[in-house]
Amino acid sequence: MSPLTRLVLVGPPGAGKGTQAKRIAAETGVEHLSTGDILRDEVGRGTPLGGTAKGFMDRGELVPDQVIVDMIGGRIRAADAGFVLDGFPRTVAQAEALDEIGTLDVVISIDLSREEVVARLTARRVCEGCGKIYNLSFRPPADPTTCEACGGRLVQREDDREDVIRNRYDVYERQTAPLVAFYRDRGLLVEIDGRSGSDAVFERIVQVLSA
Ligand code: AMP
Repeated sequence: MSPLTRLVLVGPPGAGKGTQAKRIAAETGVEHLSTGDILRDEVGRGTPLGGTAKGFMDRGELVPDQVIVDMIGGRIRAADAGFVLDGFPRTVAQAEALDEIGTLDVVISIDLSREEVVARLTARRVCEGCGKIYNLSFRPPADPTTCEACGGRLVQREDDREDVIRNRYDVYERQTAPLVAFYRDRGLLVEIDGRSGSDAVFERIVQVLSA
């Protein structure tokens, strides 16, 4: 196993963080921790946390830092085999809170332009059953409504509408992109061009983890 087990993925929505994090977790045994997935689960179960988060998520805005740090901190501390963080941290304040929790081995930034993001996310579909992610333009399933892995229904995330996507990209540039410099200054950053496609991005990540 790679000695690098405390990983963060940074990048705009739609850059492929979720897809890559799942592959990293399957390959290395670290735990995939996605704040977006945890929040969607809370919303789906109608919990108080879900109730707090839903409005922010539907508008493509960030859920308040303290809510997120309280939600994810314990899970990061409990991830004994290591972790790949997907969607956290998303602000400098969250990165500072993460510093208090512990050290990181590497931060991988996957970059993608606004227009690439809009093209990808308007075509994204997610399986309701197993969470597998599809893209109707780049890797369409045989039936655009059915998951090839589990037969579940493929749905569009509510925040994958074009107006919300554009807002999410603005939020990324304003609040999350400063993390790239934050982690570069600490010597933790590796940058990957998200346009090269999912397999090429993953190969590059494997190289980084085995270096
Ligand atoms: P994602 O699945 O990572 O694109 O996240 C979906 C939505 O969940 C975001 O647009 C935010 O509203 C919220 N969210 C996820 N992670 C965070 C975070 N670290 N900080 C604040 N809001 C978050």
